[in-house]
Amino acid sequence: MRLFWHRRDLRVADNRGLAAAAEATADGDAVVPVFVFDDDVLDHAASPRVRFMLDALAELRDDYRERGSDLVVARGDPAEVLPTLAADHDAEAVVWNEDYSGLARERDARVRMALDDAGVARETHHDAVHHEPGTITTNDGDPYSVFTYFGRKWHDREKTDPFDVPAGDDLVDADAVADDPLPDIADLSFSEPEADVQAAGTEAARDRLADFCEDAVYRYDDDRDYPAREATSRLSTDLKWGTIGVREVYAATEEAMRDAEAMADDDGVAAEEHDAVASVEEFRSQLAWREFYTQVLWANPEVVTENYKEYEHPIDWRESEEAMADLQAWKDGETGYPIVDAGMRQLREEAYMHNRVRMIVASFLTKDLLLDWRHGYEHFKRHLADHDTANDNGGWQWAASTGTDAQPYFRIFNPMTQGERYDPDAEYISEYVPELSGVSADNVHSWHELSVGRRRQLAPDYPDPIVEHSEMRERALSMYKRARGED
Ligand code: FAD
Repeated sequence: MRLFWHRRDLRVADNRGLAAAAEATADGDAVVPVFVFDDDVLDHAASPRVRFMLDALAELRDDYRERGSDLVVARGDPAEVLPTLAADHDAEAVVWNEDYSGLARERDARVRMALDDAGVARETHHDAVHHEPGTITTNDGDPYSVFTYFGRKWHDREKTDPFDVPAGDDLVDADAVADDPLPDIADLSFSEPEADVQAAGTEAARDRLADFCEDAVYRYDDDRDYPAREATSRLSTDLKWGTIGVREVYAATEEAMRDAEAMADDDGVAAEEHDAVASVEEFRSQLAWREFYTQVLWANPEVVTENYKEYEHPIDWRESEEAMADLQAWKDGETGYPIVDAGMRQLREEAYMHNRVRMIVASFLTKDLLLDWRHGYEHFKRHLADHDTANDNGGWQWAASTGTDAQPYFRIFNPMTQGERYDPDAEYISEYVPELSGVSADNVHSWHELSVGRRRQLAPDYPDPIVEHSEMRERALSMYKRARGED
């Protein structure tokens, strides 16, 4: 017998570790799938993610039951639970897929020791990424600190095909395992999320992938920055929880690429110049960004709390009472900057935010409000269903100019021009900021320039801008210059 320990890979299809465990089972032997509710992990969770995880687990269990097997669920410290379960099932080994964050690696080291002490073998696999951390490096063997070269190598490396679902015969019989019920969200000390969290599970993830590949993937390059166009895959939560495998997603892009090339040929345009081809490439680049940040976190686990980029002096973030009131206005989507407020409200409503808007709100927090990126990271961590330590931290530090951005600190987004450019008709803004739904796009995008009287007339309940962008921009530049020792 072999235990397969599910963690961030809540699926039976295209699961490298599970497929390997099944393949290694001798005749008459089987894999016992296990999930452990770990209180240390739950300490870092938030209700939207717990909801998604429980729904994904319910589907995973159904998938096993359809194959005549069942998912064993347990609660406690995996370093104690797994050796006990291994003994209960007479398992000679525990198999799992690697998780690259610092906390997970610490836990896994403890689990390895406990299994060694119990005389149980363990085997791990790389599943969550195409190219595991440490394999795409500079010529000197160092991890990349900027994306461009990493991305090029990532694209050039061969990708593995999806792994097969284990056959029913390779899985433990349902009768041989306890069918303890999955806990309710309240049993895990969380309340139901206020946000409308997207449907969880492999079937829902596959539907999203299929929908995306039907059309949006071919115009991704043009449309992905426009939040109202809904032109992105919405797969981030699935990739975070592993309800779909990265190989399966990549295989779909290969099919899309063949179609895109055919379209290019039909139009008589050189394939590489065609938008559809460029779009599929661009989508793959986002998958590469995900793996880039995974390796940044793996090589620098301290970035969860520390700046990735070193400055000569500490950055002088605002911390006053007034600054905390601004932080609250940002969290509540009440800054008086329409695109920022729309994003912050989308986050609360859907446990998700569009990527362009994530960049805008993050730039606003750090460079218009001069607030430490850690405040933003913590808020995202509390509200995002797709919160992923590597991507969230990477995104925040990039926006705050403390991370891997090749551009220096003077990349400061102007929230009005960003809104005007990426939501020209203010459609996205009207959806999430109903106070502005009757206001013309021109007035929405020049909200900061209107007189107070005009604003009251147009949208009496929508706030005035809490700061003046041009003034804060200058303050931000001085703040970063001081930190660089240039003042
Ligand atoms: P698509 O555009 O369809 O992209 C496909 C997949 O590629 C995504 O599902 C995601 O897995 C990956 N991806 C896309 N963009 C990025 C990126 N910039 N960096 C890393 N991976 C990317 N992404 C998360 O998955 N979890 C987070 O916690 C997270 N926090 C972020 C915080 C900030 C401040 C910023 C600026 C970005 C953050 N991102 C995060 C990246 C990005 O915003 C989301 O991955 C994306 O919006 C998810 O939507 P999608 O699945 O439709 O993306």
